[in-house]
Parts: sequence; C-alpha cells; structure tokens
Amino acid sequence: MWRYAPLLPLTDGESPVSLGEGATPLIDAPSLASALGVRRLWVKDEGLNPTGSFKARGMSAAVTRARALGVPGLVVPTAGNAGAALSAYGAAAGIPVRVYAPETTPSGILATIRALGAELVTVPGHIGDAGRAARAFAADSGYFDVSTLREPYRIEGKKTMGLEVAEQLGWRLPDVIVYPTGGGTGLIGMWKAFLELQRIGWIAPGARLPRFVSAQAQGCAPIVRAFAQRARHAEPWENPSTHASGLRVPAPLGDRLILRVLYETNGEAAAATEDEIRADTAALSHATGIDAAPEGGCALAVCRALVAAGRIARDAEIVVFNTGTGSSYR
Ligand SMILES: *Cc1c(COP(=O)(O)O)cnc(C)c1O
Repeated sequence: MWRYAPLLPLTDGESPVSLGEGATPLIDAPSLASALGVRRLWVKDEGLNPTGSFKARGMSAAVTRARALGVPGLVVPTAGNAGAALSAYGAAAGIPVRVYAPETTPSGILATIRALGAELVTVPGHIGDAGRAARAFAADSGYFDVSTLREPYRIEGKKTMGLEVAEQLGWRLPDVIVYPTGGGTGLIGMWKAFLELQRIGWIAPGARLPRFVSAQAQGCAPIVRAFAQRARHAEPWENPSTHASGLRVPAPLGDRLILRVLYETNGEAAAATEDEIRADTAALSHATGIDAAPEGGCALAVCRALVAAGRIARDAEIVVFNTGTGSSYR
C-alpha cells in the first residue's frame, strides 16, 4: 500500500513499517452477480493481508508514525483482527504491544496475537469493555492507545482500500460499495480517499461518489437503526451479539461520520441474521474460491437483500468487501 506514499503520512526518506499489506485483488464474480441479478459484482479480498484482515493497512500506518514519535509501547482494544495486526506491526517495529480482547474472540485470532509475542488480556463483555481496560492501562503505563479513531493514522492506511478500488477499475468508481461496518473506519477511510482523488484531479471533480452501504448483523446494528431513523448519531446497542466478531461494536466512536457518509452518498444500511451471514459466507466462498470471513458473508447477504428489495439497482456495478479471511474464525 506504500506505493501510495505521497498520499499517506510518511516523511521524506522515512521507510514505513511494512509487511506487504495492501494491493489485494478485486475479483470479478460473475456467478454471484447473476445469482443476485445485478450487472456486475466484484469482491475486494482483504483476507490476503498480513494477519488476514484489512486491519493491517491501518496498523502499518499507525505503527510507522508511532515509531517515528518514539512511543514506549502500544495498546489496543479489539474485537480480534486489530489486535492481531497491531501485534504483527509492533513486532516488526520492535515496540511492545498489549492487546485487550473480549474472551469470546475467535480462538484462532487470540492464538495469532500470542504467537506474535504480544501481551494478551481477555476481558468479559464486548469491545467497549476492552476499551475501558485499555485506556486505564494506557494512562498507567504511558503506552500509546491506538483505538479506532482515537488516533489519526489508522484511517490513513484504510484509505488505501479506496485508492486501490479506483485504480483497479481504471480510475473510475463503482456505483455501490458494500462494506461490513463495525467501527466504521474502513468506510470513512474510503470516502476520504475518493474526496482526495477528486481534489488532485485523478477522478473527475464532479464525479458522483459510490453509494456506500453499511452491512451489519441483526444482533449488533446501531448504524442500521440510526440510519432508519435518519438520525445524526447512533445510540449504543444493548447486548451485542454476532459470530461476525468484527461487527460486534455496539457504540462506534465514528457514528456521526459513518452516518454522514451514508446520507451524503445516498447510501443504505441494513442488517443480516446469523443464518443469512452463514449462508452467504459459504455462498461467497463457493462462488469465488475466496476463503470468506463472516463479515464478508454479511456484506454479501445485505447486498442480496437490498437488490431484492429494489434499494440497490440491478444495473449497478457493485464492490462487496470481504474484510478478512475465514481461516481466522475456525
Ligand atoms: C474490524 C473489522 C470489520 C469492521 O471494520 P470497520 O472499518 O471498523 O467498520 C469488518 N470485518 C473484519 C474482518 C474486521 O476485522
């Protein structure tokens, strides 16, 4: 992803903390397109990143800046994949890492965090509970907290997903982007990418941005609920539960920005049931050969439902994000 360095926070002559993140394939999926009854559908496979999710992009950017600023250590609360990614980039940079994760985090992801030499603390509850513990530890220890949207650089790395989609489509944009939304930085980052591409003239200044679609699980859908009420912010979701663990974020800090992106792009938000997520995780994998994560299955399920309901047009060109690898969840 550092081929986009001029658009990223990197100073002249500095080398980034990199493990080969980004440059993931945009896979044309004609059989999924015809199954859903749409003109064209691609899957952006983020499962091929280091530690198996797009979280690598944000952590590569954040750890690069943290190393330059000389932090003594890094701490993050996580639903799983952000902790694995931070563990990897912390190891690459030689910076100690502490991770707070819910005890229900998929065991494969917890094993990856341990294998990469980070200190892992599991907590009862959800990512919000992990966040409180992580902030208390940061205040005590001087470790720097890299929680979603509490520092400015992870979103810069995630921005590169949008730069890649534009480049892979020949510097034009798809009609619709379906993104499984937890904390929302992926979605906000891509929106920022497209606005910056307009500003530097790499896509037409007047070009219509893609409609952004937030996909969530019915067991934790604060953004979908707020969107349905046309609200400007989201109320915390009580008792969040879904096996798509990256989506188990009951009170995203970036709620206002996520909703603004949805409203300004004439977007959509909808939630899938656990059974729909399972069925479309399998459908995505069987139709494409991608080892899909449940979050990717959730995005496909929501896309399917919105096409059927006429809320996504059948002549649309759609990019569905598979944000992680299924192997982390077994
Ligand atoms: C973190 C995560 C998400 C949610 O992404 P946000 O950008 O925080 O909305 C979705 N899928 C997977 C696999 C994740 O790890």
